[in-house]
Amino acid sequence: MLVMKFGGTSVESAAAINRAAEIVRTRVSQNPVVIVSAMAKVTDQLLTMGQHAGLGQRDRALELSRSVRERHYTTAGELLGTGIFTQFHTELEAEFDALDELLRGIAAVGELTPRTTDNVLSFGERLSSKIITQAFSARDIHSHLVDARECIITDATHTRAVPLFDETNARLKNRLNPLLHRSHVPVMGGFIASTRDGITTTIGRGGSDFSAAIVGAALDAERIEIWTDVDGMMTTDPGLCSDARRIKVISFEEAAELAYFGAKVLHPATLLPAIQKNIPVYVLNSRNPKCEGTRIISQSPSCRNTFKAIAAKKRITIVDVVAARMLGAHGFLRAIFEAFDRHRCAVDVVSTSEVSVSLTVDSNEAIPKLAADLAKIADVKYEGRKAIVCLVGENLRGTPGIAARVFTALGEINVRMISQGASEINLTFVINEDDVPEAVRRLHAAFFSELDPDVFE
Ligand code: ASP
Ligand code: MG
Repeated sequence: MLVMKFGGTSVESAAAINRAAEIVRTRVSQNPVVIVSAMAKVTDQLLTMGQHAGLGQRDRALELSRSVRERHYTTAGELLGTGIFTQFHTELEAEFDALDELLRGIAAVGELTPRTTDNVLSFGERLSSKIITQAFSARDIHSHLVDARECIITDATHTRAVPLFDETNARLKNRLNPLLHRSHVPVMGGFIASTRDGITTTIGRGGSDFSAAIVGAALDAERIEIWTDVDGMMTTDPGLCSDARRIKVISFEEAAELAYFGAKVLHPATLLPAIQKNIPVYVLNSRNPKCEGTRIISQSPSCRNTFKAIAAKKRITIVDVVAARMLGAHGFLRAIFEAFDRHRCAVDVVSTSEVSVSLTVDSNEAIPKLAADLAKIADVKYEGRKAIVCLVGENLRGTPGIAARVFTALGEINVRMISQGASEINLTFVINEDDVPEAVRRLHAAFFSELDPDVFE
C-alpha cells in the first residue's frame, strides 16, 4: 500500500480536487490511503473565527463562517452536480451548523481555550475529507471516509498533541486494513486526532504531513507521496537564481536542515515516523504529476556534488553583545540567553569571540526592548536587514577545503558571521540582505555548474 497526502493548495477548489482524483486513479491498484488537508486558507480562517468569538465578536465570527460555508457549498456543487449534491448538502449543512453553534458558545463565554481551538480548527479537515470522499465516489473511485479522530490517538496537549503510537498503530491497522483488502480507498483528514476519551485534538499546524507519516509507518507503506504545488525541492530558490534545478533525491537530515533555513515545501521533522522505518517519501506536484519530484530517504545517496542546496532566510537581525571583562564570567552567557527567552526571540546562529557574542534572530518588534534589557549587563548593538545563507550537503562531512572555496566564491561580499553546525552537513553564514541574490548566484555557479545526474534533474 501507499499513502497519498494532498495539501491545502492541492484541494483548494473543484478543479484541484478533480486533479487529485485523477492522480489517485492512477494508483488505485496499489492500494492507496488518501490523507487530505483542509482547503487552502481554511484553517487560518477558522482560527480567526475562533479568535473573534473568543473576544465576544460573535457576528464577525459568524460572518466569516458564512463565507467559508459558501466556498465549500460551491466547491461541492461543482464537483457533484445537482443530483448528489442535494442529498449531500444536508450533511455539510449539519457540520456548518455545528460550527456556528460552537462559535456562538465561545462568544457567549468570551474565552477561546486550546481545547476549543482544536474543536474549531478540526472543521477544515472534517469538511474537506467529506467532500473529497464524495467527489472520488462520483468519479467511480471506491472511496471510504475514515474519521481520523477514531484512529489517531494523542495526549491532551491541545493544538500540538503528541500521538500515542501503540494505540494509534493498532487502531489504524484495524480500521484501514479491512478496507484495503476490499480494494477500497480510505480517505482521512490530516492534522486532526483525538484523546483516548474522544476529545478532538490537532497535532500542530501543517500537521497533515505528520498524519501521512504516522499512517504510512503504521501500515508499512511502500512509500508516502506528499502532493503539493511545486515540482519538489530545488537546489535554490528559482526566484533568486534561474539556474536552480530540482533535487531528485535527498537525505532526511539534509531536507531537515533546508526546511529550517527557509525552504518552505515541508517540515521533514514530521516525516520521522516514516523515515525511521525506511519508507521513502516523495514530494510531488499535483499540477504537474508527470514530474518525478523529490525523494527523501533515510540514507544519503552517493553524490558527486559537495552540496545539495543553498537556502537563504531574509529578515534577520544580528544582535552584538560586547562585554570586554564579563564574557568569560560564570553565568554571563546564560543571562544573555535568558533575555532572549524572556522576549520570546528564538536564536538561529551564534558566534562568540573573546570579548563579544553575536546572535541572530528573525527581525521582530521585540528587538528594541530586548536590546534595552541586555544593555543592563553589556554593550549592545543590533542591525537588521541581514540574511542567513546556508549550504547543505552530507558530503561536507570530511571534505577538506570547502570553506575556502565558499568564501573565495563570495569574493568581496561582506560576511558578518560564520557557523558550521554540529550536524556537519551545513555551512551557514550571515550577510546583508541586499547581497543575497548575488551571493546565491555566485555560490550556485561555483558548486552547481556540473551536476551529478543521479541526484539532480
Ligand atoms: N490544515 C492544517 C494547517 O493548515 C494542517 C495542514 O494543512 O497540514 O495547518
Ligand atoms: Mg502543509
